[in-house]
Amino acid sequence: MRYYDQHSHTYYSPDSTEHFENYLKQTDLPVVTTEHLDFYRPSQNMKDAVLDYDSYVETIHRLNKKYKNRLLKGIEVGFTYRDRHRIEAYLADKSFDIILFSIHHNGGQGFMTLNHDTKDLTEHVEDYYSLMLQGIKEAPYANVLAHFDYGLRGYDKVKVSDLKPAEETLKAIFKVIIEQNQALELNTRSMYAYDNAHLYDYAIGLYKSLGGQLFTVSSDAHVSEDYQFHFSDAFSLLRAHDVNELVVFKNQTTHWVPLPD
Ligand SMILES: [Zn+2]
Ligand SMILES: [Zn+2]
Repeated sequence: MRYYDQHSHTYYSPDSTEHFENYLKQTDLPVVTTEHLDFYRPSQNMKDAVLDYDSYVETIHRLNKKYKNRLLKGIEVGFTYRDRHRIEAYLADKSFDIILFSIHHNGGQGFMTLNHDTKDLTEHVEDYYSLMLQGIKEAPYANVLAHFDYGLRGYDKVKVSDLKPAEETLKAIFKVIIEQNQALELNTRSMYAYDNAHLYDYAIGLYKSLGGQLFTVSSDAHVSEDYQFHFSDAFSLLRAHDVNELVVFKNQTTHWVPLPD
């Protein structure tokens, strides 16, 4: 088995208009899309993103006849503590190959649209990772901790030293994912579009020092041009950390695959 991208979106996500075929045509590997599930407060003025599962499954089923069963099913759970039961209820009667765990907003504001000018980064880092720790403990059903730095994307030039005050919280998060057999995602969009690769360098070391071994590398593509975005750079970074295997998820089961050259 060879490694494949495990975080991408199509028109089944509100922030993408991409079609499955445009990913499928670029590769002979399996293609898994991870469509959004996000709930918002009325004050946020955002429409809930709830994947139309029946339609999604039916589209995949139809395309799989043409594309040799290469399409897998995935979902990206945008976790909020307040909606945890709704999320569980949604997942209860559905099956996915992979479930990503993400923290996209704090129940009041999206982390991409926070007023970064007025919120101190140190305070934000503490808040963000506290939410992540509280959340991940409630989400043993997830397979992957996605873009651990998402909440920092709105700040320019975040340094490793900016994360240090939250290091104990980060360690606690990594201990939970290790216990729950969840992988740490290298999100190449964060690393090379938001220039946070150095934060991943730090996180890989920290996670490994606690015994973490499960890694995924994913593009978070919303357009097919971003499929496998900067993968070779992320692979090199892992190699520098003596990581030589990655994991893929099928029917939520972990499979080890070699780190590609
Ligand atoms: Zn996300
Ligand atoms: Zn995503």
